[in-house]
Amino acid sequence: MKTPEFKAARFVLMDIEGTISELFFVRQVLFPYSAERLRTYVSQHYNNPTVRDCLRQTGATTDEAAIQTLLNWIKQDVKHPALKTLQGLIWREGYEADAFRAHLYDDVLPMWREWRTEGRELGIYSSGSKAAQDLFFRYSVEGDVREYLSSHFDLSTGSKRDSESYREIAAETGYDPSEILFVSDVVEELDAAQSAGYMTALIVRNPAIFENDRAGRSCKHHVFSSLDEL
Ligand SMILES: [Mg+2]
Repeated sequence: MKTPEFKAARFVLMDIEGTISELFFVRQVLFPYSAERLRTYVSQHYNNPTVRDCLRQTGATTDEAAIQTLLNWIKQDVKHPALKTLQGLIWREGYEADAFRAHLYDDVLPMWREWRTEGRELGIYSSGSKAAQDLFFRYSVEGDVREYLSSHFDLSTGSKRDSESYREIAAETGYDPSEILFVSDVVEELDAAQSAGYMTALIVRNPAIFENDRAGRSCKHHVFSSLDEL
């Protein structure tokens, strides 16, 4: 860690999309794949209790209506647990068929190695389900990198914009919030983590988009363009 105050970080919690993996992969590869495959997947796994449960959770009265609801949620990036679970199942088929591999920025693995060597633990907090995270890191462009990560959190812990979620994560990892560094590309998530007592680092992979998005708002976080600057 180059930033003096981050040297105290014993646990580095990271977001995936836009932080360690390019937005393109999730938005232009994973989401369209799940939308394309959804109908076929549901019909092929019609009796799977998990699939039935996900369809029921949409609140729709027919399977067709449930599928339409789910397709709309994909379009609108609604982070509903039923959709996340179904997407995880569909992506498993894609990964196993080698239809795609999860993207990781070049700086990610070298820094994970360095931080692990320094005795820091690494974890993930993503809106993608734990099952989807497991697939993501198992089938990455760098191969199976799951060994670097000691814990995974998803929306079952709560919203990424709610500071209570970060308190719960700290309690589960056994570290004091002041020993945890949260790394994300979303200011609101970092605000919530900071309120819970975490150290925070904002990753800006695309400065043009960030400056546009940031206009008129203040940012209380250290800003970096890649993990190796931390
Ligand atoms: Mg993100």
